Amino acid sequence: MNGKLDAVNSPEDKGLEIVANWARKNSLWVIAYGTGCGAIEVPPTMTSRYDVERFGITMMATPRQADVILVTGYVTVKTLKRIIRTYEQMQDPKYVIGFGSCPINGGMYWDSYNTIKMLDKYIPVDTWIAGCMPRPESIIESLLHLQENIKNGRANGYQKYRDNLEWYRANQRKIIKNWTMPDYNW
Ligand code: SF4
Repeated sequence: MNGKLDAVNSPEDKGLEIVANWARKNSLWVIAYGTGCGAIEVPPTMTSRYDVERFGITMMATPRQADVILVTGYVTVKTLKRIIRTYEQMQDPKYVIGFGSCPINGGMYWDSYNTIKMLDKYIPVDTWIAGCMPRPESIIESLLHLQENIKNGRANGYQKYRDNLEWYRANQRKIIKNWTMPDYNW
């Protein structure tokens, strides 16, 4: 089933959507794409000290089975291509969390020739974590925020990507030269 029911008209459809969002919220499988320094804070978040599994959140090694991708810091031009590929391999509904100042606005690499400055020009970001570098408490807070948005039907970046694919592709092509990626496989 797609992330959002195609036509949520009847009370039964609405009820089904609520139940589906409740289930999604409580079973988030996360793939961590360790692009930058923030990756070092992921293991303590996932293990016994901070124990994010108590919220129904666990790690997943493959994009096909993941619901959430963590982009854990600055994104180089080379890495952007792999992030897009990973994101597009994930099944809908899917969500993106951007870690730290670097993916928000370039951070300390704001004038680097080799990093992108605003991740949400290339893939939709559902939740940001401000700071350099975010601590596990912030990561957990962002995951809880994402869960709340999923529950309320507001975490819809994947629909935005689908609806505005040409805009995203145009931005991606400005950065990634010699584009040889296959077309998006919905
Ligand atoms: S925000 Fe800070 S911790 Fe995160 S990737 Fe940038 S420099 Fe590293």
